[in-house]
Amino acid sequence: MNYAIYPGSFDPITNGHLDIIDRALSIFDKVIIAVSDNQQKKHLFSLEERLHLIRQVLTDKKRIEVESFSGLLVNYAQAKKIKVVLRGLRAVSDFEYEFQLANMNRNLADDIQTVFMMTGQENFYVSSSLVREVASFKGNVSQHVPQAVNERLKEKFQ
Ligand code: ADP
Repeated sequence: MNYAIYPGSFDPITNGHLDIIDRALSIFDKVIIAVSDNQQKKHLFSLEERLHLIRQVLTDKKRIEVESFSGLLVNYAQAKKIKVVLRGLRAVSDFEYEFQLANMNRNLADDIQTVFMMTGQENFYVSSSLVREVASFKGNVSQHVPQAVNERLKEKFQ
């Protein structure tokens, strides 16, 4: 079976993430969504909330697993014996950071490949950080996030 790990903060999961997951399911048998538990990053949603929201909005529950991980991504991937790390690309602005990250991961573990997937045009400018910012000012983000996330954001910023 072909497995891929899709790592990220998912704070919160957006339609951009879901777009990448759908595309990934068309070429991989199984996708592991790996939610990072990076204590140094300030999150809007706790790790438990992020995991819960992802599980709530998943489409193909049989072929997707949701887990958290801490520490180095390559160590996590190696422990799970999975050789593909999936990352999403939006506009050119993602490239520099993703290139650095992929290069660093390759230096750390040459047996793990980073695979990039391009999101659909409607998600080119969707990011969790922008969604958080707009939602914090009570702006409408309903077209960029699944309904459960939209509701949770509204509660959070009420
Ligand atoms: P991280 O903190 O690791 O960047 P994110 O949750 O922000 O975590 O992103 C996880 C992955 O999903 C990254 O590869 C990011 O580029 C990708 N991603 C985020 N939003 C989108 C989007 N709208 N379209 C495509 N990929 C996206």
